[in-house]
Amino acid sequence: MEYVKRLRQLRRAMGRAGYEALLVTHLPDIRYVSGFTGSHAVVAITPRRLVLFTDGRYSGQAREEVEAAGSGARIVIGKAALREACELLQGLGTASVQYDGEHVTVAELSRMQESLVGVSKAAARRFFEPATPFPVAGLREIKDEDELAHLEGAAQLGCRLFDAIVPHLEAGTPEREVAAELEFFARSLGADGMSFDTIVASGVRSSLPHGHATGLPLPRRGFVTLDFGVILSGYCSDMTRTVYMGRPTREEMDAYDAVLEAQETAVAAVKAGVLAGDVDEAARAVLRRAKLAEFFTHSTGHGVGMEIHEGPRLAAKQQQALAAGMVVTIEPGIYLPGRFGIRIEDMVVVTGDQGRVLTPSTKALLRL
Ligand code: ZN
Ligand code: ZN
Repeated sequence: MEYVKRLRQLRRAMGRAGYEALLVTHLPDIRYVSGFTGSHAVVAITPRRLVLFTDGRYSGQAREEVEAAGSGARIVIGKAALREACELLQGLGTASVQYDGEHVTVAELSRMQESLVGVSKAAARRFFEPATPFPVAGLREIKDEDELAHLEGAAQLGCRLFDAIVPHLEAGTPEREVAAELEFFARSLGADGMSFDTIVASGVRSSLPHGHATGLPLPRRGFVTLDFGVILSGYCSDMTRTVYMGRPTREEMDAYDAVLEAQETAVAAVKAGVLAGDVDEAARAVLRRAKLAEFFTHSTGHGVGMEIHEGPRLAAKQQQALAAGMVVTIEPGIYLPGRFGIRIEDMVVVTGDQGRVLTPSTKALLRL
């Protein structure tokens, strides 16, 4: 079972780092280790225990999901999951507990410290240590077979949505209507929801890297950037295509070709062992040659999985090496202020010898 394997790997990572116990509070991490998908829970992990704390609303669901996952988590139904998890860990005689430094709030940390009994404030502060990166997040970067299948399904659904929306792109249609239609198709075709707010940025607005759909109509002439994703079986997709309404100018076509070349060059650079920063540089170098690098104002990509943005980051000078089983986006873009913007984004699985693209939709410039 995948969950048993995950736990084994996690405990191995804990051993290497010298961690006695993990307090897991980030919901996607909780799902990853236990199978539980509810909105409120805490998981305590030690070398011998896996305990899920949640409340009465979830007693049935927790039992069903933990059983279906085969994670073997013990379930404790109570009133204050965080406090109860801390009490258990203290009761086990654990010397210290690692928590998720990226996600635990200051208020939660003080609740954690206050839940310890019979220790001084200073000792309570020492008992909890932030682990950054948190071992569960590191493990989640490498997808197992089940996860790859879910991500591939989500990416393919994204491509079907793109095919479905293209005939609806007409001058005069408000961006928001395009987004609404896309989201309607998504639900109709089986998505659990969208993985982020759909971006429809047309004409001059395509120069906004994150232009959310507005009431403005699609222009007679200009680029339209569509960046969207679905959640399917708990996994996110993320893709961008930029199309053209009307006839592009020579300059616009050249700019599109440069972004496409940058994107394909970066996709070709993806393989296990390559540094994330080198994939970013592969895209940036193409745009530099085209004298467009100054308009490429974000990083080249990010990991995607249960969350739309997760590790690794594919940004300038990132020293992390890619590893087989990671799923990353490759999404260079250029944004000429007040004029136009172009972005092209695929999801790519890292393998030993090359990247495998999960997003087969055409990247040739569609003219509508
Ligand atoms: Zn995107
Ligand atoms: Zn993205």
